Amino acid sequence: MILDDLDLGRRQRILIVEDVQLNAQILLNLLRDEYDLRVASNGLEALAMVKEQMPDLILLDIVMPEMDGYEVCAELQGNPNTRDIPILFLTALEGDQNEAYGIELGAMDYIRKPFNVPVVKAKIRNHLELKRYKDILKRDSRVDGLTRIPNRRRFDEAYSEECSRAARNKTPLAVLMMDFDLFKAYNDTYGHLQGDDVLKLVAKTLYNTLHRPGDLIARWGGEEFVALLPETDLDGACQVAERLRLAVFALQIPHEASSFDQYLTISVGVASSDDHDYKSYCNLLQKADEAVYRAKSNGRDTVAVYTL
Ligand code: GH3
Ligand code: MG
Ligand code: MG
Ligand code: MG
Repeated sequence: MILDDLDLGRRQRILIVEDVQLNAQILLNLLRDEYDLRVASNGLEALAMVKEQMPDLILLDIVMPEMDGYEVCAELQGNPNTRDIPILFLTALEGDQNEAYGIELGAMDYIRKPFNVPVVKAKIRNHLELKRYKDILKRDSRVDGLTRIPNRRRFDEAYSEECSRAARNKTPLAVLMMDFDLFKAYNDTYGHLQGDDVLKLVAKTLYNTLHRPGDLIARWGGEEFVALLPETDLDGACQVAERLRLAVFALQIPHEASSFDQYLTISVGVASSDDHDYKSYCNLLQKADEAVYRAKSNGRDTVAVYTL
């Protein structure tokens, strides 16, 4: 139930960029049993294909008409979304000077033409293995260890992207902050281990209650969760907040130490902005946090909206 679409069990994808068809064909024959392959015959086509589907590794010819391999490499390295794709240059060029240039541009390694089959296979295998480890590390650094839903780091990244997007596209953006009610008392009554189990169950429930593809829910820390709802106005955000509150209540987790209900409940703070101003979108988190306090002082197990 992790948001990232990192299916680490799938076959790894290699994009071959080579203008000489015979060379491309040799590589296809060498690699097709082990990997998912695509071929681009020039630089522009390669960039378009990367945009369409992210490869795990790129075999990049250097000498090509119009846009050469160095230019493609520089472009991919300059974009944060594609910077981590390992690039192996395919080269017939000789000389350390060129090799240094490619590495400085961010390429991982060179594969020489004519191809030495064991070397080609070994280099590709090594770099793909490294890529897989990096993907796992990247994924795990953005997932909360206890609940296995996105963590605060993941939220922060998405939040800053969505603030920019909302300002650019002139769309509303909403943030919800959720806090368990009287959870200290829950731990005191049932123990921390059971408290952890409840955190896991509620996290899963909150996660499964959000439906839109762009929505994100993350563990903010402790017993606090946060939701990011792109293209959602205040009215819509309140509806989602109420749905989340009810979903937790419906779990009917006994909480006998609660002073106002027999079940575990949450309080939700809502903030939304539609003024197309980047700064105001960035303030939503703080406002949602303030709204939670309001929900608490309104008696808990409730949704409160940020107002001045
Ligand atoms: P309120 O309704 O005002 O939010 O009361 P509260 O008791 O939930 O608030 P407070 O901030 O005083 O306490 C939060 C508690 O959440 C403290 C701690 O016992 C519990 N908690 C935080 N993180 C974890 C965790 O990872 N596991 C467990 N079991 N409990 C946690
Ligand atoms: Mg060429
Ligand atoms: Mg709290
Ligand atoms: Mg609390």
